[in-house]
Amino acid sequence: MKVLVINCGSSSLKYQLIDMSNEKALAVGLVERIGIEGSILTQKVEGRDKYIIETSMKDHKVAIGLVLNALVDEKNGVIKSMDEISAVGHRVVHGGEKYAKSVVVTEEVMKELEECAKLAPLHNPPNIIGINACKELMPNTPMTAVFDTAFHQTMPEKAYIYPLPYELYENNAIRKYGFHGTSHKYVSNIAAEEMGKDIKDLKIITCHLGNGASVAAVKNGECVDTSMGFTPLEGLAMGTRCGDIDPAIVTFLMTELNMSADEANTVLNKKSGVLGISGVSSDFRDIEGAAAEGNNRAKLALDIFNYRVKQYIGSYAASMGGVDCVVFTAGLGENAIETREEICSGLEFLGIEVDHEKNNIRGKVKEVSKDGSKVKVFVVPTNEELVIARDTVSLVK
Ligand code: ADP
Repeated sequence: MKVLVINCGSSSLKYQLIDMSNEKALAVGLVERIGIEGSILTQKVEGRDKYIIETSMKDHKVAIGLVLNALVDEKNGVIKSMDEISAVGHRVVHGGEKYAKSVVVTEEVMKELEECAKLAPLHNPPNIIGINACKELMPNTPMTAVFDTAFHQTMPEKAYIYPLPYELYENNAIRKYGFHGTSHKYVSNIAAEEMGKDIKDLKIITCHLGNGASVAAVKNGECVDTSMGFTPLEGLAMGTRCGDIDPAIVTFLMTELNMSADEANTVLNKKSGVLGISGVSSDFRDIEGAAAEGNNRAKLALDIFNYRVKQYIGSYAASMGGVDCVVFTAGLGENAIETREEICSGLEFLGIEVDHEKNNIRGKVKEVSKDGSKVKVFVVPTNEELVIARDTVSLVK
């Protein structure tokens, strides 16, 4: 069975065609600049040169049409006909409170997704457009929706209700939802397997550290807390997002600095985080480079980022009454050797001890804690597409 996984952003689209008999990606692709000048599709197939299509793509339907053509292309494709695609799994950012699990897309589900779009105005609309475009081009192929928020729906009320007037939860659905759920679920399960233990017997803290970053507390296989909240702005300091700040800063920006709501939103989402602190870049490699050359603000940005991850680890160890395993994943978690070491330094009192030599790796599943470390520390490359494909198979079978 072959499953096409689609992750639609506002002007980009990532896709993978996965052969579920061996869970290997047959083709991995990225379409960029949809609806703007310079649209480009890049498809990678193992052992071949990149296949690049540069042509105007006015919308997502055109882009998905080109993706399907690229997959069946006689010379550069990986399948003979579209009929070989048994199902399409769509990443959907926000499933609200309605969806604690992935679902087959129906008319009713589409209506609910429209409802949830209010909660994720930047993310859900392109996801919905992607699903609609696929439905038009492949009307007989089953589609599923796999939600970033779903894994976090097991959080207890005390973790997801904000200390605000309760009516804001009841009437406006304002609560913590959490994101990156597919990733937290995947890496916590791999870590349990690596430890040779049942995840139901473990307390795991997963650190998804990429441009967007979040930490989750996974107790007995269920998420009990996570650092992102009502939106993906809460929690850690990120590439460009501020994470936790005093909410009074927002009203201060608006009343004292005369910013509009949109302007304040842009500052907090796009101009803050390690970019805002360092003034250098949102990319951690650039910031590490600048810090190494003596740029103090770049160094400060890294210190603040690491300090906050450390704080969340401590906090979630307290939430769960202990911790057996810490997992690092995503761009930075998988690759940034010093970042992992910095975050864990000082956490020896919790039994977290990183081994300097073992930690000298990038991008593969590996235990990096000292032999005697009470808490195991793992690097686990995330694979959100595979989780989407697996969920899709189990739903359409
Ligand atoms: P997202 O999916 O949220 O856009 P990723 O998970 O791809 O992000 O992570 C991107 C981040 O990972 C970038 O800030 C990048 O600098 C960082 N990163 C990738 N490789 C390395 C590396 N070798 N060392 C340090 N940081 C890295």
